Amino acid sequence: MSTKRNLVNELLKRNCLITPDCYEILEDVDDDTIDLDRLANALKNELVVTAEKLQEALQSFEEFLSEGDLIDSDSPIDESLEQSEMDITLPSKKVEEPLDSISDSSKDDEKILATQIRDISKDVPSQFDPIGRNIDTQFKILHESSGQTTIDGTLKDFSKYFISRFKQLRAILKKRGDIGGSFRIGDLKKAKIDEHERIGILGMVTTKVSLKNGGMLFEVEDPTGSITITISNKMQELLVKAGALLQDQVAGFFGKIYGDRMVLEDFVFPDLPLSSRSKTVKDPVSVCMTSDLHIGSKEFLEDSFDNLIDFLNGRVDDPYQQTLASQVKYLIVGGDVVDGIGIYPKQEDDLIITDIYGQYDKAAELLAKIPDWIHIIIISGNHDACRLALPQPAIGKEYAPKLWAMKNVSMLSNPSTVNIHGKVFLLYHGNSFEDVSSLTPGLSMSDANGPMIYTLRYRHLAPTFGRRSSVVPSLKDELVIEHVPDVFHTGHIHINAHTRYRGVDCINSGTFQSQTDYMQSKNINPTPGRVPIINLQSGKLHELVFYDPKEQKQ
Ligand code: FE
Ligand code: ZN
Repeated sequence: MSTKRNLVNELLKRNCLITPDCYEILEDVDDDTIDLDRLANALKNELVVTAEKLQEALQSFEEFLSEGDLIDSDSPIDESLEQSEMDITLPSKKVEEPLDSISDSSKDDEKILATQIRDISKDVPSQFDPIGRNIDTQFKILHESSGQTTIDGTLKDFSKYFISRFKQLRAILKKRGDIGGSFRIGDLKKAKIDEHERIGILGMVTTKVSLKNGGMLFEVEDPTGSITITISNKMQELLVKAGALLQDQVAGFFGKIYGDRMVLEDFVFPDLPLSSRSKTVKDPVSVCMTSDLHIGSKEFLEDSFDNLIDFLNGRVDDPYQQTLASQVKYLIVGGDVVDGIGIYPKQEDDLIITDIYGQYDKAAELLAKIPDWIHIIIISGNHDACRLALPQPAIGKEYAPKLWAMKNVSMLSNPSTVNIHGKVFLLYHGNSFEDVSSLTPGLSMSDANGPMIYTLRYRHLAPTFGRRSSVVPSLKDELVIEHVPDVFHTGHIHINAHTRYRGVDCINSGTFQSQTDYMQSKNINPTPGRVPIINLQSGKLHELVFYDPKEQKQ
């Protein structure tokens, strides 16, 4: 067996999932001198080990060894890694929110009515009359990914992937009034542009560097060429705004050309159009949204989930809650249906169902208790049984045959765009939200509103390639947000959030898993059992609380 295979297998045995680009690095590692247990320990908090993380770990590892220190589980490696990742593109000082739109839109949160569902009854009250029973399901898939890769991952193929991303985002940018008549980068030289003339170009950021003098430098490319763009250290406001300009992001740039450089005066993201076009929905139907059930985990809150099932069946005494329940026609599960197997080191200690088939059988058993007039839409997440890299195909039929067999269930890819009863929903688990929130100044991992708004502004679900969340390159970049949705439903963060951005309801539907030891160690405080429910006719959003804090961890 070759050295390469050996190390890969050894790491896998230690529950380290690595991306294919790590293979090359491992090939160069001298396997006689490396202590794999220690390396695995240094990487234990990575869901998936990227080449960058592996390199950083190996480097710190070497430094530690050269200092003659031992690496133990309390070593500060993880923190130092996180810090170094932050430093790559973030300014070191805390910057203000670059946009007022965020704080403005967050105020909508206050309008959500939170309803504690407590008075669950054993029987369905006789007056319960679900409208879903008399109305047909109106559900259409607008875009779904088969997950098939159309290219092999050669350098040429990667460039095809990025050209596809560029072309799709350019088309969106061109629809904006302000950057329509822009120059192609390759035409700039012969265009004889006057030094005082402000021009526009569209391009993808390939390099982003913070300069010692406080300014910034970008290398920006389109298929015809590349150009250096600088921001002077005097342009404080623009520098703050440019903090959110990420690598591999496509944007429109305005500035003046001096020699072979552009001095930036402003830039625009593809963003959402300002005008919101909302169609009215004929029926007063509601969509219930949840995600991150983590069935199979010891922390899955089955009693709380049973309360949701009772509610959907109308087994509530309060007439107001009964009315809410009677309107539910759809339920979306935004990924991480089960906790999975081998997702992180020592996961088996946190599982109550230790095989993946059993986890999905349990999921099917629970979802079968939901009345069949409710159509259930399930997308995959990073804990589910399918390829981890985005776009993730639907959860495999071989793992979840019972879910696939249910007539009222649609199993879809992550992401998917669907039309539910006249409204467009963009469904995305949120795999890239750690990356987006760590790279974008002002965002935090505990607030999904930031990454939801920014991915809409970027018009891309995973703007920076090759980070923690891996992306499979294909001939068409399926992570570009081509359709403007009415509702953007996400999960993954395990903390409920809602905001409205340019007419789009951005909803993170939390979790049914209580705090795990891992989350406790990272100071992540989930909000389990809170289920947003949106009425498509009135646009009103409620949050139903099914979690009873008395329900203890097992
Ligand atoms: Fe999750
Ligand atoms: Zn997740």
